[in-house]
Amino acid sequence: MFLKKLVVAIDGPAGAGKSTVAKLAAKELGYTYIDTGAMYRAVAWKTLQRKADVTDALILGVVKDIDVRLAYKDGVTQVFVDGQEITGEIRTPEVSHIVSQVAALGPVREKMVDLQRQMATEGGVLMDGRDIATHVLPNADVKIFLTASIEERAQRRWKEMKEKGYDMSLEELQKDIAARDKADSEREISPLVQADDATLLDTTGLSIDEVVARILAMCSEAGR
Ligand code: C5P
Repeated sequence: MFLKKLVVAIDGPAGAGKSTVAKLAAKELGYTYIDTGAMYRAVAWKTLQRKADVTDALILGVVKDIDVRLAYKDGVTQVFVDGQEITGEIRTPEVSHIVSQVAALGPVREKMVDLQRQMATEGGVLMDGRDIATHVLPNADVKIFLTASIEERAQRRWKEMKEKGYDMSLEELQKDIAARDKADSEREISPLVQADDATLLDTTGLSIDEVVARILAMCSEAGR
């Protein structure tokens, strides 16, 4: 589509719709979509397999020799831990509940960020997360900070979880998302923050198509 294979960074809080729109935009551009949250969720999933109290020491033991891989094929991201596919297992409320604790630890971030940078070396990627524009890919060609009101984000997640068969109250979900936002924004290492040179895109009240169109327009501008 463009002469240059762009590097696109999308950050924002939980439930802002990052993965939904990033996947669609990546498809349109013929780019690879990299879901960095899935990588932290993979570490959280393996930590839960230990069936012990989730302490920082336990997490650090797990991350030492974990092999996390993402495969992106035909618009679908598959997640592998130590060779085992766990794509469906990383979206449970249990994983969501501990993932911010996991992602706050330096050794976890170092390992995941190394992998993320390796995956972006060729360009033609759209990566979403919390610290992509600020830390992982500070030279990205397009930087977007995607957000929406907490009520709308909770609603969207609730619908998504309901479709997957989870019976959670909207209130409970909103509390969980707010707690995750707080932990992600206030942590010491690479907190969730809008990069100075990122474009703010508030998706409250916008349709998915409208958001995708705005992202594509920004890419088109940058690819000229
Ligand atoms: O994007 P998702 O909600 O799946 O991310 C799960 C968690 O992973 C976030 O709440 C955050 O704690 C962590 N994360 C992060 N840095 C990223 C992506 C996700 O710390 N780049």
